[in-house]
Amino acid sequence: MDKIFIDKLQVFGRHGVLSEENSLGQMFYISAEIRLSLKNAGTSDALENTVNYSECCHLIKDICEQNTFKLIETLAEKTADALLKFSPLIRSVRVRIDKPSAPIGLPLESVGAEIERAWKTAYIALGSNMGDKRKYIEDAVKAIDADENCRVLRVSDLIVTTPVSDIPQDDYLNGCMAAETLYTPIELLDRLNVEEAAADRKRTVKWGPRTLDLDIIFYEDEIIQTDRLTVPHPLMHKRGFVLDPLMQIAPYKKHPVFGKTVSELAEDLKKTSPEINL
Ligand code: AMP
Repeated sequence: MDKIFIDKLQVFGRHGVLSEENSLGQMFYISAEIRLSLKNAGTSDALENTVNYSECCHLIKDICEQNTFKLIETLAEKTADALLKFSPLIRSVRVRIDKPSAPIGLPLESVGAEIERAWKTAYIALGSNMGDKRKYIEDAVKAIDADENCRVLRVSDLIVTTPVSDIPQDDYLNGCMAAETLYTPIELLDRLNVEEAAADRKRTVKWGPRTLDLDIIFYEDEIIQTDRLTVPHPLMHKRGFVLDPLMQIAPYKKHPVFGKTVSELAEDLKKTSPEINL
């Protein structure tokens, strides 16, 4: 991808584990690759179609000068985070911190750290079958969009579905949203759990009624299997109430395990379970 780069911006800072580093300070060289499409800027010759590298340099300088971190990893993380939020055009960044005067007592040119961070696309299933269902879902979507680490891209229609459960309960309202996020998958799950808790979601009975259910369906093309999180969601291909709204916003998104598009999975489900219309 195209990039704007900043090479070894020299900034004085007081980062370090040793107290002398915090009191005396030293020079840091900060480099960044800011990845975005430069096509529109190149064809329009307009500054608003790119990022202003001078502003990026000042942003980097301010973060380095106005904080005291023990670790250059933290400085790199904060810098990457600020750059990713600097403009909606920015897709990913690489940040490198060089600390040429690190107190090591051996001859060397530099030590440092380099990280890469990016906006990731996640697909999240939305469901509610208690109280004001539409409001629970819409409030959660608004809260996620208001989070500085997330940007809601698309939201499907909310559809009424019959509960897939032996426990008698009210019909569901279901939908799906696509969002970009800076959270890792587990951080995203934690963030969604906060919204469920805010909706007074009680985890009493499995498959029981709920004010709000937010599930991660896809996170980029990642395949994750841990105690707390399975992605792609292990039942998504068996659930019409997930596939139908997902079809509206991502019909050609491919399931990274099955290698089939959402639209193909929906077709398969209708063939195997024709009684499931939604
Ligand atoms: P529920 O909210 O009833 O759908 O289930 C939530 C439980 O499923 C939590 O304990 C999560 O840790 C776990 N879980 C596993 N994979 C996922 C996923 N992809 N999205 C949401 N929750 C998940």
